[in-house]
Amino acid sequence: MSSNTSPTTVESAVSQPDDDAEATSAVATARRQLEHAATHLDIDPNIVERLKHPAAVHEVTVPVERDDGSIDVFTGYRAHHDSVRGPFKGGLRYHPGVTREECIGLSMWMTWKCAVMDLPFGGAKGGIVVDPKELSQAEKERLTRRFTDEIRDIIGPNKDIPAPDMGTDPQTMSWIMDAYSMQEAETLPGVVTGKPPVIGGSYGREEAPGRSVALIAREACNYYDYPLEETTVAVQGFGSVGANAARLLDEWGATVVAVSDVNGAAYDPTGLDPHAIPSHDEEPEAVTDYADETIGNDELLTLDVDLLIPAAIGDVITEANADSIRADLIVEGANGPTTFAADTILAERDIPVVPDILANAGGVTVSYFEWLQDINRRSWSLEEVQDELDKEMLSAWDDVRAEVETRGVTWRDAAYIVALSRLVDAHANRGLWP
Ligand code: GLU
Repeated sequence: MSSNTSPTTVESAVSQPDDDAEATSAVATARRQLEHAATHLDIDPNIVERLKHPAAVHEVTVPVERDDGSIDVFTGYRAHHDSVRGPFKGGLRYHPGVTREECIGLSMWMTWKCAVMDLPFGGAKGGIVVDPKELSQAEKERLTRRFTDEIRDIIGPNKDIPAPDMGTDPQTMSWIMDAYSMQEAETLPGVVTGKPPVIGGSYGREEAPGRSVALIAREACNYYDYPLEETTVAVQGFGSVGANAARLLDEWGATVVAVSDVNGAAYDPTGLDPHAIPSHDEEPEAVTDYADETIGNDELLTLDVDLLIPAAIGDVITEANADSIRADLIVEGANGPTTFAADTILAERDIPVVPDILANAGGVTVSYFEWLQDINRRSWSLEEVQDELDKEMLSAWDDVRAEVETRGVTWRDAAYIVALSRLVDAHANRGLWP
């Protein structure tokens, strides 16, 4: 493992007591999920212990000149969790709530996500503690370029490949690619994924996480005998993940009764047209302006629907509302929407939760296709991307379903079992250096 290069130690980030089952930091949830899944496998506890810790957490200071000439100083992170299967991979978040713990937890989820999908990547996550809504486009560009320079030594097409996440988009990725390429004195599109296709991005990348959520939801409905034409769906969050998932499920015959953004939800028990409601990218925070009837986000989560898709932020299904959930099936679109305590309650109530690390893995899977296209300097058509994505998602679904059936475990445990088996095998083969 590489050493921690930041001024504070890894231990300070991960040594929080984990006894409180409802402690909701992403790293606490991720570690608890790991421990729980590991109990189902006969694996070397030393490797499980190793996987509880990030390889490194980089913390950088990012000074930015504001448009008025003053200088603001922001904090940025890049957490590297594990790279036994390939370069670190994961998104970059611009959000006022970004913390070191959150980056570590999310980087762990990326490790499992890439392993569930059998991609040759490890897990990373990063972010800047900033509200991007308070920055002009020029300020965002300066922030991104300076952050890229601060982390330049630890990213690269064969080291660590960032991608979009909350608050970042293809434009952000373009600036990173440019800043990195200028400093390296060669055009290196493979340093980030989620770029616009004109500079080496992949067709279908932006829609991919939502597409995979819809595909996995379709398989889950099929598995539990809910014909899509008779399935009602509530989707929390109408960003890229929620909007694309809702629209596809609608096209495939499901009835989407509620979709929401931060202001609340549009609700119609007879079915909404998710194509007629603008996504966050099309018109930010406008969902409720396009609704005849609105309800609150909390109410959306407890609607009596067949399928609930939390696709906004983490920790929305908690010990406080898990007993009130009336959906028959949950498919996670966001990263970490269900706390560990809520998961336990939902399992006791026999409500299946198909986890984020499988359901929204279409994003990183098409990121992998993008990286392949960049390295080979050959672009794939949208049709090729969608065919390959559908194939990869169905194959991962089959791997996870097999564990659910043979071990009688939850979908989350099954996905962890698939991921952990591959990771532990890789660690056992490579061993511990030196
Ligand atoms: N941020 C996305 C995720 O959480 C994508 C990561 C990537 O493509 O590297 O899965």
